[in-house]
Amino acid sequence: MKLTGTLINYYFHCKRQCWLLGNRINLEDNSEDVRIGRVLHEIRADGVKNRELAIENVKIDKLTKDHLVEIKKSDADVEASKWQVLLYLKILKEKGINRKGKIEFIEKNKIDNKIVFLDLNEKNELELEDIEIKINNLINNSIAPSPNLKRGCKKCAYYEYCFI
Ligand code: SF4
Repeated sequence: MKLTGTLINYYFHCKRQCWLLGNRINLEDNSEDVRIGRVLHEIRADGVKNRELAIENVKIDKLTKDHLVEIKKSDADVEASKWQVLLYLKILKEKGINRKGKIEFIEKNKIDNKIVFLDLNEKNELELEDIEIKINNLINNSIAPSPNLKRGCKKCAYYEYCFI
């Protein structure tokens, strides 16, 4: 399966969430949190040129002269967001477009900065290749990982599926 930004984000957030999406069990439309995220994107997109750019199977929020910009509703899972952006940077690089990454968090709860910058380098490119293999292995398992209640589960599109 072709790796997407959402899959890699879910892989870091919750292996079960990644498996469910990877096996096309998609309950996103039922999630109020996802709807709020979409509306926030639309509000911020209003009047801004070159918003949301689709390249292959990824959608990029904004591409400026120097940065690929990803806009996140909250900083609840910074690590997952970072790997999502690194994947986008790698896909762009393969197309001959070199940029630095920039994540803008609309709600800041956990980290000090509302903006996080990151670079694609040899080390994280190799790690991305390894992660892609691990995600494919996970998705190809016939059984989903067990649900593991954690912070954020109640906001997850799969909450009812996992726990009710
Ligand atoms: S509800 Fe929790 S355990 Fe279930 S998929 Fe979502 S994050 Fe994972």
